Amino acid sequence: LGLALALTVTACGSATKTVDQQSASGSSAGALVGVTMPTKSSERWIHDGENVKSALEKLGYKVDLQYAENDIPTQVNQIENQITKGAKVLIVASIDGTALTTQLQQAADAKIPVISYDRLIRNSPNVDYYATFDNYKVGVQQATSLLVGLGLKKQDGSDGDAKGPFNIEVFAGSPDDNNATFFYNGAMDTLKPYIDKGTLVVKSGETDFKTVAILRWDPATAQKRMEDLITKAYGDAEVDGVLSPYDGISIGILSALKSSGYGTADQPYPVVTGQDAELASVKSIIAGEQYATIYKDTRKLAEVTVKMADAVLKGGKPEVNNTTDYDNGNKVVPSYLLDPVIVYKDNYKQTLVDTGYYTEDQLK
Ligand code: BGC
Repeated sequence: LGLALALTVTACGSATKTVDQQSASGSSAGALVGVTMPTKSSERWIHDGENVKSALEKLGYKVDLQYAENDIPTQVNQIENQITKGAKVLIVASIDGTALTTQLQQAADAKIPVISYDRLIRNSPNVDYYATFDNYKVGVQQATSLLVGLGLKKQDGSDGDAKGPFNIEVFAGSPDDNNATFFYNGAMDTLKPYIDKGTLVVKSGETDFKTVAILRWDPATAQKRMEDLITKAYGDAEVDGVLSPYDGISIGILSALKSSGYGTADQPYPVVTGQDAELASVKSIIAGEQYATIYKDTRKLAEVTVKMADAVLKGGKPEVNNTTDYDNGNKVVPSYLLDPVIVYKDNYKQTLVDTGYYTEDQLK
């Protein structure tokens, strides 16, 4: 509703006085919004950046959109530049969620509100709002898709027919990304009863977050770790499942498995999970390689974030739906959480094509 209203306002050009006064304050019209994204090496962030930018521009704002290729000092500079250029609000998807304290203090001193995008910025009082998906739920869904793939659960949530035991390995995301812990906790809480009963066996014994985390979500690091795990822990044994927190990491894991002889009729790939529904991984799911992924509609995240930005720019209060879960070490940041969705081979059409996220042609 907010968006629609504001769109009407900009469509009428300088209608700031004729429409709802509060939704069209003159001082915010045409304001500059600084948007910083972590990297272009993963498709999702490209979509996020484009979606946020175009939605802001539709509302008449100017946008400075920057990518930092996962380099922390680059992102720090970009944010400093945006403050210098007079940005009126900052939207930040951080690389290292703990590395921006100084810049956010500068922003606060200049009265620039900050919206944490997708990843929570930590250890700073100067984070005003947070727009994201329910990150704990993402982890629960990743683990659930692993259990479904192994036959321990059915998609409807009831118990599956398989008995196990199954050999699995666990990967987590970047330790400096607050989300990685949420994904890991959601997943491990879901897998724990099965591990405790011996239905799932982590053969390497490596389950500790710090040990299984992959710095900067790097696919090559994940590939190397999977190769090492196979060498170290799997003589004659087979890997039955791998909890992977992100599609890029899944690609690394699948490559390692492929070099060890998996991916044939005799030795099919284990159940490998993922996140983001990136194009290559959805194709891999359709081809029966990766088992599942978690779809997070970046269009919706952009929409929610832009509504937040628009509201703060107009001196209003953005809508939030969670004021308890996201403590950044300094304060609980008011958040808007969106719902993630599990994508399997048998529901990719409903989840990704019918929603217009991809066309059937893109997935060929
Ligand atoms: C995002 C995930 C993404 C990961 C790697 C996380 O912060 O929430 O969607 O898979 O970063 O880019």
